[in-house]
Amino acid sequence: MLRITLPLQKQVSPVPTISRVVIVGGGFTGATIARLLALHGQYWPHEIVVLEPRAHLCGGLAYHTDDPSLRLNVAAHRMRAVPGDPQAFVRWLSNSGRLERDPGAEANGAIYARRGDFAAFMAEQIQPFLESGIVKHLRERVERIHRRHGHWQIEGDGGAILQADVVVVATGHPPPTPPRELASHLSSDPRFITNPSRPDALHAIRPNDKVFVAGAGLTALDAVAALRARRHHAEITLFSRTGHLPQPQAAGDFAPHGDFLIGVPNTALSLLKRVRFALKEVTENGLPWQSVFEALRHQGQAIWRALPLVEQQRVLRHLRRRFEAHRFRMPPQIADLVDREKAAGGLRACTGRIVAVQPGREEIAIDIATKPHGTVEHRAAQWVLVATGPDHRNVIGSQGCLAGLERLGLLTKDPRGLGIACDHDSRALARDGYPVEDLFIAGPLARGTFGELTGVPEIAAQAERIAQQILAMSFATTRTITIRSM
Ligand SMILES: Cc1cc2nc3c(=O)[nH]c(=O)nc-3n(C[C@H](O)[C@H](O)[C@H](O)COP(=O)(O)OP(=O)(O)OC[C@H]3O[C@@H](n4cnc5c(N)ncnc54)[C@H](O)[C@@H]3O)c2cc1C
Repeated sequence: MLRITLPLQKQVSPVPTISRVVIVGGGFTGATIARLLALHGQYWPHEIVVLEPRAHLCGGLAYHTDDPSLRLNVAAHRMRAVPGDPQAFVRWLSNSGRLERDPGAEANGAIYARRGDFAAFMAEQIQPFLESGIVKHLRERVERIHRRHGHWQIEGDGGAILQADVVVVATGHPPPTPPRELASHLSSDPRFITNPSRPDALHAIRPNDKVFVAGAGLTALDAVAALRARRHHAEITLFSRTGHLPQPQAAGDFAPHGDFLIGVPNTALSLLKRVRFALKEVTENGLPWQSVFEALRHQGQAIWRALPLVEQQRVLRHLRRRFEAHRFRMPPQIADLVDREKAAGGLRACTGRIVAVQPGREEIAIDIATKPHGTVEHRAAQWVLVATGPDHRNVIGSQGCLAGLERLGLLTKDPRGLGIACDHDSRALARDGYPVEDLFIAGPLARGTFGELTGVPEIAAQAERIAQQILAMSFATTRTITIRSM
């Protein structure tokens, strides 16, 4: 590798000397930061590099799909993905003709677009910067990040070695961790699908194969929608420990209801009381309960910040499942599918604890001690899917590059088990508790600090703040050029 460091004379160089930013992960979060940097900064070609193994930027786990049965869970007008232009996506849907080609998009008085269409919209936003070369997409998975000669060195699995002044970690959602009871009996069984979001994960399932799904959240409902769309018609069991299925979206439009920021609650219990009070108010006034959860979402970061760590942990322990079932709601198209399937007996929900698993030749038998009485129910299926959602508790362990940074003391786990620890400027917190000035944690990985940081509008807002911080950083004394594997 040839690395040349050119001293810059500030007085003779009219070009701002902003060095290279490397973004690890090019899902919605990483691609949005790259776009905002390119839009508002003065970069030379290839100075913003996004390492992302997928063929296209902006898709990530949620949107990188061409399955038309997978829709956004949120109405298009609420997908405020472009800072400063909240209606950009709705406009694009009409202008691009995508809405016309998707007759099933309108439901309950709103548009619930296909997820693949959202990815296409976002891809169009970043395309000019890819074409100009300001943003470089390198199709590699980052394996190692470390410090070298005062810079970051980033190594990809395809041989790329980059040096950068700033690194943004936007690796997003880790894979789910299979429930222990299932993994211990099925870990090497080909009928055990541990990550159903992978492309082609469901292809081997035949229409009349029974399916047991561990998990009953939106990921599980995605699997149901994808299976039924490919004419699968056998029984599907949705198993969960708590039985909280995602709730439906409300019909029509509504305003958020409730002000939680006046005398903001500082305990889990006082927060719960305030939510119950707001729910009583909306019920009495004939408003949808969803309006209270919209208010909680809008004010979520301030509410979270007002809670001491121990109270945040209490919220997660006691309220999380119920909250998530109401916060992460299913789109009307999926709610209709679930209702139809339940009525026809094709979809069965089952709550409790797995007490026995027996992989047989034809079927996998699963016994469940059901809630509330512990009666044992027997289930049998040809396939078992793990749809328990991303395991943010193990995110550092799931990635070599993050585990390496942790070993160097430059990255630490979030103490609430929600991803990676960072401060309110999104800078990673080192082992000594101090922020690492040039290492940013972006997107849902930073949820522990911010609380509400899963949906597109909140991520877009964080991306904007991170981009502003990077642009405000000064690297005015040297410009580093790295020549290798680009
Ligand atoms: C199924 C699903 C549906 C959702 N639907 C909605 C919705 O309708 N509306 C809404 O507002 N929000 C929705 N969300 C939430 C939200 O939009 C996402 O969580 C958001 O897309 C997060 O993006 P991300 O880029 O941080 O993570 P990801 O989408 O997980 O992307 C991370 C990217 O990093 C890459 N990567 C990982 N490790 C490495 C590495 N070592 N080196 C290089 N690259 C790496 C991965 O390939 C991936 O593409 C949904 C989320 C999910 C999971």
